[in-house]
Amino acid sequence: MPEINCPQCGEKTHWNKDNPFRPFCSEQCKNLDFIAWAHEERQIPGDSQVSDVFSEDLEKFE
Ligand SMILES: [Zn+2]
Repeated sequence: MPEINCPQCGEKTHWNKDNPFRPFCSEQCKNLDFIAWAHEERQIPGDSQVSDVFSEDLEKFE
């Protein structure tokens, strides 16, 4: 079985095609990576522009 490093924690783990979390060593590492990915998705520049528009709108109402 080939050895790989878990992309999340860097821990050495075995590449096992029966491992549903591969290339991660565990479900926890897979979930952490997804959370990090989802967090980055929310940081896209378009998002801050949208919230700027919203705050401008709110200022007009005040
Ligand atoms: Zn891991």
